[in-house]
Amino acid sequence: MDHSATTAANPAVTEAMLPYFSENFGNPSSLYSIGRQARRAIEEARQKVADLIGAKKEEIIFTGSGTESDNLAIKGIAYKNRKKGDHIITSSIEHHAVLHVCKYLESQGFKVTYLPVNKDGIVNPADVEKAITSQTILITIMHANNEIGTLQPLEDIGKIAREKNIPFHTDAVQTAGKLPLDVEALGVSLLSMSAHKMYGPKGVGALYLRKGIFIEPLFHGGGHERNLRSGTENVPGIVGFGKAAELAKQRFPEEAKLADLRDRLIKGVLEIKDSYLNGHPTKRLPNNANFRFSYIEGESMILNLDMKGVSASTGSACSSTSLEPSHVLMAIGLKPEEAHGSLRLTLGLGNTQDDVDYVVSVLPEIVNKLRMISPLGR
Ligand SMILES: *Cc1c(COP(=O)(O)O)cnc(C)c1O
Repeated sequence: MDHSATTAANPAVTEAMLPYFSENFGNPSSLYSIGRQARRAIEEARQKVADLIGAKKEEIIFTGSGTESDNLAIKGIAYKNRKKGDHIITSSIEHHAVLHVCKYLESQGFKVTYLPVNKDGIVNPADVEKAITSQTILITIMHANNEIGTLQPLEDIGKIAREKNIPFHTDAVQTAGKLPLDVEALGVSLLSMSAHKMYGPKGVGALYLRKGIFIEPLFHGGGHERNLRSGTENVPGIVGFGKAAELAKQRFPEEAKLADLRDRLIKGVLEIKDSYLNGHPTKRLPNNANFRFSYIEGESMILNLDMKGVSASTGSACSSTSLEPSHVLMAIGLKPEEAHGSLRLTLGLGNTQDDVDYVVSVLPEIVNKLRMISPLGR
C-alpha cells in the first residue's frame, strides 16, 4: 500500500523491454539496421507517451527520471529567460524535485514566491494571479500532491498563465497514467512524468515541452533529444515507458475504481478514535489516503504494519533524511506533533478489497498498542 512511492513494472512492460537489452541492442544514432530499429522503437514509445497526455510526439523529451524532468523544466526555463526576468512562482507543497530546484535557483540570484495552500492543501488561483510581476518567467504548480493526494485547480491556473503569457509547468508524476490528462485543457506548457509511478521501469522520465516554448539544456554532448538531453538513450527504459503509457491509457476506468477502495479504507480507518484524514475529502488522487493519529509516531506505525506484511509511509521526521516533519503537512497547518503521527496508504492495481479490509482490521490494534506506550500524552 505504498504505490505512490513506486509500482512494479507490468509483466507486458518487462517483456517489451527485454529484446532491447540483447538482440536489439543497437545505438539509436547508428545508421545500420539494428540502430535504426532502436530509433524506431524510441519514436514509437514517444508517440505512446504523447498520446497519454494529448501532446504531439515532437513535444516529448525523454529524461532519466521525474526528478530530472522537473530540473530540466525549471532550470531550463530559468536559464533561458534570465534576461527577461528572475521571478518564479511555485507552491509550498511541491515535491522536493521542484522545491529544492527553486531553493537552488534562489542561491543563483532568482526570486521565488512559495504560495501557501489552504487546510486541504489547495492553491488559490487568485494568489497565483496576485503573485505575478513583470519579472515572472515561470509558474510551477504540481498536479497532485504525492503525500496528501490533493489535486490542484490547474485549468484555472493555466488560464491565468496563458493570459499573462507566462510558461506554466506542472509536476504530473502522480497523475500521469492515473487520470486522463490533456495538456490543452490543463493549459500547461511543460509537464513532468515518471515511468516507475505508472507500472513502468525506474530510471526513465519524460518532459512535455509545448511547441514554441524554449529551454536551456542541462546536459551538453551529442545533441540527443533535440539537443535538450544529450546522452545515448535508455532504449529498454524508453520502450518500457511507452508500453506502460499505452497500457495506462486503456486502464483509466480501472484506476478510477480505486476510489471506491480508497473510500472503504478511509471509512474503516476513521473508525479509530482520534484519527483524521489529511487532504481534501474528494479532490484527491483515486488511490491516496493519508491519515493522522494523535499521540503516536508514524515510524512506529510503519514498522508495526511492516511486521503484519503491509508497506506504508509517513510524513514523520525519521522516515526522511531531514529532522523536520513533512513540509506538506506543515503547510496545511498541522502542528509538528500532528505531522509526526501521519500515515500514508496509497493503493495500486494489485490491491483488493481483502487487502483494504486486512489493513482496517490490523491497524486499530497497532494504534492502541503504540498509544499505550506513547510518551506523547494520553
Ligand atoms: C516520485 C515523484 C517525483 C520523482 O520522480 P522520480 O522518477 O522518482 O525521480 C517527482 N514528483 C512527484 C510528485 C513524485 O511523486
